[in-house]
Amino acid sequence: MNFTIKKEQLPSFLDVLAKKSAVFVPVEEDSGATIFAPWEGQQLFLEGRTLFSPKFLFRPSQEKIFFFRKQTGSYEISPLDDKKQKIVFGIRPCDTHALNVLDQLFEKYCDCGSDQFYTSRRKNTVLIALQCKGPCENGFCTSMGTSQPVGHDLLFIERGNDFFVTAATERGKRLLGKKFFKPAKDTAPSRKLECQNSLETKNLAQNLYSNFNHPVWKQEGDRCLSCTSCTQVCPTCYCYFIEDNFLFGSDKESERSRQLDSCQLQRFSKVAGNHVFRKSRAARLRQFVLHKLSYYQQHHGLQLCIGCGRCIAACPVDIDLTKIANEIQKDTLGVKK
Ligand code: SF4
Ligand code: SF4
Repeated sequence: MNFTIKKEQLPSFLDVLAKKSAVFVPVEEDSGATIFAPWEGQQLFLEGRTLFSPKFLFRPSQEKIFFFRKQTGSYEISPLDDKKQKIVFGIRPCDTHALNVLDQLFEKYCDCGSDQFYTSRRKNTVLIALQCKGPCENGFCTSMGTSQPVGHDLLFIERGNDFFVTAATERGKRLLGKKFFKPAKDTAPSRKLECQNSLETKNLAQNLYSNFNHPVWKQEGDRCLSCTSCTQVCPTCYCYFIEDNFLFGSDKESERSRQLDSCQLQRFSKVAGNHVFRKSRAARLRQFVLHKLSYYQQHHGLQLCIGCGRCIAACPVDIDLTKIANEIQKDTLGVKK
């Protein structure tokens, strides 16, 4: 099921899609930040992965989850649910892997069953992946095995003046109207990426865990500003806190919302009695890196880091988790870096 579409026809194709669904595309904002935004005929950002991942379309940084109203002896709860049909154009292979990880997390591992807000958005969203032409700055997807997409509906690959299009699902194929798409007789062009950044993954999870007191944690942690930029941009960071906004009186509707949190903040690990488990910045940075590259893999058999390099790109003091991990790998395995 392969097709081609002329690059110049892409805006018209997106216009047609936007008549049926909300369409989100990668764009560069005036501030220079690259994000996924509603398609309004603007210039697309197709040079590489965006700084902010499409995760926010499925898991907003802040969202209301239900309203509640006091009744006599009980509460009436009205959950909110986003069932809007969406199409995401231009999601990169590494970000499809990030969604794959979040799918496992929110559909299987939640203590309270699946996360209905996330799963409903995922179910109602078509993913049109875009293969990368070349490596992006800081990325190391080839080390993490995430340079080819998973779980997408369509895959676009740039080829000269065309996009070569492969339909991976029936719902993806249904979007390929004859007006824009011509059947392709040849096979998909291969795109082998050579990332400039790399991570030695041999026994990685175990080696990082057994080097809990390696000097690199303090050396890098002392430079950390606890600014939370790394966790803001990471496509697989999912921790959040809950906030209730109470309005008293039986005629008043109160609301519960949740907001993205960050393990880089000291209050994140504060428990009853005001005890903070991770007081030092080194301990918090170690938590971030070990969660991404060690703990999650050991507990769930899946790598939480998909090698997008966003945390490295966003860090104001150039802290790089691949350098930290490679330093430990070098000492443990004798690998030269
Ligand atoms: S830890 Fe960094 S490189 Fe890994 S997925 Fe998160 S932002 Fe990307
Ligand atoms: S972006 Fe860099 S400085 Fe900011 S919290 Fe993360 S590691 Fe620390």
